[in-house]
Amino acid sequence: MKKCPLCNGDLVKKNILTPYAYKNAAVTINQPQDYCEACHEGFLSHEDIRATKKELADFKRKQDGLLSSDEIRNIRKKAGLTQERAAEIFGGGVRAFHKYETGEVIQSKPLDIVLKLLKQGVVDLNKIENAAKA
Ligand SMILES: [Zn+2]
Repeated sequence: MKKCPLCNGDLVKKNILTPYAYKNAAVTINQPQDYCEACHEGFLSHEDIRATKKELADFKRKQDGLLSSDEIRNIRKKAGLTQERAAEIFGGGVRAFHKYETGEVIQSKPLDIVLKLLKQGVVDLNKIENAAKA
């Protein structure tokens, strides 16, 4: 069994309701972690952080009026773009859309606006692609 680095107590894998605040809003996320029964300290592995990053990113996006991970994925798919192709057009690096759609990175406001316009059918993808090439 894993031991607590603080008190050497036994660590157990647990989901703990953890409050997060952003701007004037608060949310409680069920956060997996290694929890010390002796000193009540929780320890997050990379895997634990990965498990809740999308939920946390979407919470922040909501406060900022940005598209959620799933909305970005839906808009991209509806436009017939792979993650790689979307990144070629909109920039941000090869893995940009993978990161937006998993909540690893929150999209910029300008990109968010373009994606919303694309969703509304106000801009057409061919025009964006041509402008990106020019
Ligand atoms: Zn401990």
